[in-house]
Amino acid sequence: MVIKGETLEQKARQLLKERGVEVEDLAELVMFLQKSYIDDLDLAACLENVNSVLSKREVQNAIITGIQLDILAEKKQLLQPLQEILEVDEGLYGIDEILALSIVNVYGSIGFTNYGYIDKVKPGILAKLNSHEGPQVHTFLDDIVGAIAAAAASRLAHSQPDKSDITK
Ligand code: MG
Repeated sequence: MVIKGETLEQKARQLLKERGVEVEDLAELVMFLQKSYIDDLDLAACLENVNSVLSKREVQNAIITGIQLDILAEKKQLLQPLQEILEVDEGLYGIDEILALSIVNVYGSIGFTNYGYIDKVKPGILAKLNSHEGPQVHTFLDDIVGAIAAAAASRLAHSQPDKSDITK
């Protein structure tokens, strides 16, 4: 059975929303990454690039897989020791970052640099997802969100080669 692309995209977008991530939050991360390189950048352009990243099947697959694991961890339905690893967001686990890498490079390798940077600084929604307050588990989601923003920022940079100097 082949899942229709439209269904997969709807589900991925719905899951992001349900887990507290709006497309505007993603657009703001793109703005954060690109504002020093593109003078007249506005949120609408950032949003357009986010939407383009979200239309890619490999991105949708990463979103539904990562969020599903976060939800199962919240419901304590994973086998040990994976249950505890995801629940405490164990720093040496690393598979959350690996899954997110399938998103990072969809628009070229600048995505990789953007991803490393945003993961370190954790602006906007990323700080919220990383707060580890309350019962919610966002072990996979934080990396997915950073990766979507990084990929969208790369697409934006590639679309405006005369305006953006990515080597700055
Ligand atoms: Mg993580």
